Amino acid sequence: MSYPGPGAIHRQCILCGRSFRVWTYELRKPNRAKFCGRECYFESRRVFSTALSDGRLDAILADELEAIRRKRVTRKMDDWMARKLAS
Ligand SMILES: [Zn+2]
Repeated sequence: MSYPGPGAIHRQCILCGRSFRVWTYELRKPNRAKFCGRECYFESRRVFSTALSDGRLDAILADELEAIRRKRVTRKMDDWMARKLAS
């Protein structure tokens, strides 16, 4: 089996710092080649979720959280308007 593009390189896991091999074409895809394995990926989700619920990420993710909340309010208003127009 051949892979597109040049060969593999080594990167460090963003959670545990361990070096792991990744194909260069995977670097072009979003949210790829960041973790050395499934354990670190699932552990990062747990850690992120805990930090988010504790409010430790509020300052870091303020813009993203505001955009998400604004989108949800807009969606609820759209649903309300659709129900109003249907009745
Ligand atoms: Zn790792």
